[in-house]
Amino acid sequence: MQRRALLHRLGRQAAALALLRLFGPAAAQPAPWPAGTGHPFTLGVASGMPRPDSVVIWTRLAPRPHDADGGLPPLPLAVRWELAEDERFSVGVRRGEFVARPERAHAVHVEVTGLASARTYFYRFIAGGAVSEMGRTRTAPAEDAAVARLRLALASCQHYEQGFYAAHREIAERELDFVLFVGDYIYESSNPNHQVRTHEGPVPQTLPAYRARHATYKLDADLRAAHAAHPWILTWDDHEVENDYAGDASPSGLDAVAFLRRRAIAYQAYFEHLPVSPAMAPQGPAMRIHDRYRWGRLAELWTMDGRQYRSVQACGKDGAAGGRVITGCEVLADPARSVFGTAQERWLAEGLAASTRAWKLVAQGSQVSSSGITTPGLGRRVYSDGWDGYPRARERLLDAIATAGGNTLVLGGDVHRHVAAQLRQRPEDPRSAVVAAEFVCSSISSRGLSETLMAAIRASNPDLVHARSEERGYALVDLTPQVAHCDFRATPYPVRADATLHSQARFVAEAGRPGVARD
Ligand code: FE
Ligand code: CA
Repeated sequence: MQRRALLHRLGRQAAALALLRLFGPAAAQPAPWPAGTGHPFTLGVASGMPRPDSVVIWTRLAPRPHDADGGLPPLPLAVRWELAEDERFSVGVRRGEFVARPERAHAVHVEVTGLASARTYFYRFIAGGAVSEMGRTRTAPAEDAAVARLRLALASCQHYEQGFYAAHREIAERELDFVLFVGDYIYESSNPNHQVRTHEGPVPQTLPAYRARHATYKLDADLRAAHAAHPWILTWDDHEVENDYAGDASPSGLDAVAFLRRRAIAYQAYFEHLPVSPAMAPQGPAMRIHDRYRWGRLAELWTMDGRQYRSVQACGKDGAAGGRVITGCEVLADPARSVFGTAQERWLAEGLAASTRAWKLVAQGSQVSSSGITTPGLGRRVYSDGWDGYPRARERLLDAIATAGGNTLVLGGDVHRHVAAQLRQRPEDPRSAVVAAEFVCSSISSRGLSETLMAAIRASNPDLVHARSEERGYALVDLTPQVAHCDFRATPYPVRADATLHSQARFVAEAGRPGVARD
């Protein structure tokens, strides 16, 4: 009897699976909302990937977000969404239903299409009798629109344990078109010497553990506020998976097969927790995150992936992956080594050459200008995980920028310091022409290099017009057709919960005059 009941149930499950395979996830019928689960919208709401006629809205159902199942049964559950032109949800309302699936951690990604360009919208979700908080978002201007201004917050590196998110609190209160986040959204690792608060557990190795890590970050009210206030455009760096990984190479000694398994898990958890297009969902260890955005005739933005297709760092200890300080490394001259991979490099070069917008913004995870340290008699020491460790790839990037012409800003993060730099076609050669301006944002909370090292870096690199690592923050970039302003917002390290930010320094880049100048 028991056996027959079991067979019957297995038969039903097999039939359900077969249906799912035939008709895709749309065929999955949502189950009735389970009783007594608690409020499902603990991780807040978010929006992203603004286009002239669409935007992605996101949430995840997780009444107990640190539990392996999020506090929900392994069943598909229905979520209603609403988007409107006003905060009372009475004008231009759109509605729909999304079936949140357990294999996606009950994440909700809805690409709302058919929207008006350059317009503010409000959105919310409803499930199990609960209503989420309200998010605000904004679409991009029409591609041929004469846009007078673009304001974005450039941010990266938000180690949860190393500080509070005062920067996000300020970002949430700003008037912005979008937040541009260039990587290290979560940190997989800890430094026991620098903890103002702690992660929920040890270094994640499994899918539930990566999900719990993302939940820890999203449980921060200031981060949730920054998501609810603006659409985000994102790319990633290394810590979303593992510090200093490069392609399929792991610094922790996993072989490629084992590491790609971990990368697949980390990419899936990333996808499940961020407002990216449902079309971006990873296929195993592959997830295309690099993308291009247009902001009317004012700007075109490329968000680059500097990790998934990267060649392994040069001259590692015993050939292992991972960043270290290197000198006299002959492998650096190998032109086959790449940060973006051949296909993405070509895609960017062609895009830059074809672009007719007033500004071209190249957003990527790190600092392109050099930060090597020259010591007489010892030569130049560089950090192998940065662009200094990929000089031929950097030459190709700068050649592509120079060949395309026009006004280019390179935007980055990763290095935990505010940097304004002249980008020469051949960095480290003072006779080479400046071809672009570079702005790198300091970290939201992760600690930076010591002042001793920073002084040596500044002394060895005159093209670093500004480089300060002792304060945390983000960069406000404000573009008009004639000029780009960059305001480095900052607060001392470690960031206190009640910290306020100040303007550390301000720079401009003028159209028609490559490079940066003090504002
Ligand atoms: Fe970082
Ligand atoms: Ca990084």
